[in-house]
Amino acid sequence: MACVPIAEGVFTWPSDQPRLIGSRCAACAIVTFPAQDSCPRCASTEMEKHLLSRRGRLWAWTTQEFPPPSPPYAGPTGAAFVPYGIGYVQLADELRVEARLTQTEGLQAGMDMELVLVPFRIDDDGNEVVTFAFRPLGGAGGGV
Ligand SMILES: [Zn+2]
Repeated sequence: MACVPIAEGVFTWPSDQPRLIGSRCAACAIVTFPAQDSCPRCASTEMEKHLLSRRGRLWAWTTQEFPPPSPPYAGPTGAAFVPYGIGYVQLADELRVEARLTQTEGLQAGMDMELVLVPFRIDDDGNEVVTFAFRPLGGAGGGV
């Protein structure tokens, strides 16, 4: 079974040390994720590809108890749905990203997190689709 990323251009792929792919404005230096073609602050179109830090600190989180609206959600539904953590992780001093978390228990504000790739679903071609998530640094949860 092949592994494929959930979308092109979201994270570095393939990679043992995945990084989220954001963008940085050449004019005002704001960093965005996902990458954008124009700056949300100054409207410049001089946006450069910018790899985000793999590590950050957990800022806030909750548990997704039911499948999100589809589309865009394309993961398991019904009996196959498993609640998952979702949170904001502060990456360096650049930005906070909203992301899936590998666990729903044992989380603490400010704890160190790192980016991992996790199984998301099996697509129509039988490929394992992977997405990104954050797990507590040194934790055992998740990871492809
Ligand atoms: Zn700008």
